Amino acid sequence: MFLLSLTLLPGPPISTCLPSLTTNIHIHLNDMIISLIADHHQPPTPSRYESQKRRDWNTFGQYLKNQRPPVPLSQCNSNHVLDFPRYLDQFGKTKVHLQSCMFYGQPEPPAPCTCPLRQAWGSLDALIGRLRAAYEENGGSPESNPFATGAIRVYLREVRESQAKARGIPYKKQKKKPSQDKPSDESSSTLFLS
Ligand SMILES: [Zn+2]
Repeated sequence: MFLLSLTLLPGPPISTCLPSLTTNIHIHLNDMIISLIADHHQPPTPSRYESQKRRDWNTFGQYLKNQRPPVPLSQCNSNHVLDFPRYLDQFGKTKVHLQSCMFYGQPEPPAPCTCPLRQAWGSLDALIGRLRAAYEENGGSPESNPFATGAIRVYLREVRESQAKARGIPYKKQKKKPSQDKPSDESSSTLFLS
């Protein structure tokens, strides 16, 4: 009778305790992960570059949606990327003279002309750079980034050269800053000598 009652005693409630314990741990971990993600993705004051990048990304997304038929982001390729600046040219504010224009190659023409307004090369170059970054930040893989193809680089170079000729404005290449890692030996030896 005594033995029987012992065996009938309910076992230690470990089995019922453990799940709630592990659930709590999971909840805490999730909270931590969520707050980490939130910290990472939502800086308190987005910089001008960041907000511009977000606007560009939304504009490009809208552009893809407005295609007939609409293009899902996963099927976006370098052709869509190449068509985008051409589409944006209608909103351009930079006069780019045609070769037939008498002001072709003049930086400051003395009179108005009927040549089309385009997006300036500098604006396009910066725009593609922002979209290239946004594409990867929004889940696109660097290997398939349509903003990083040779075709878009060639296109931008052609725009730069043709606008430089048409507007008589050479685009100077930015000089590369001297590399930062070179003088490390010198600085460390100076540190030890002094
Ligand atoms: Zn003109």
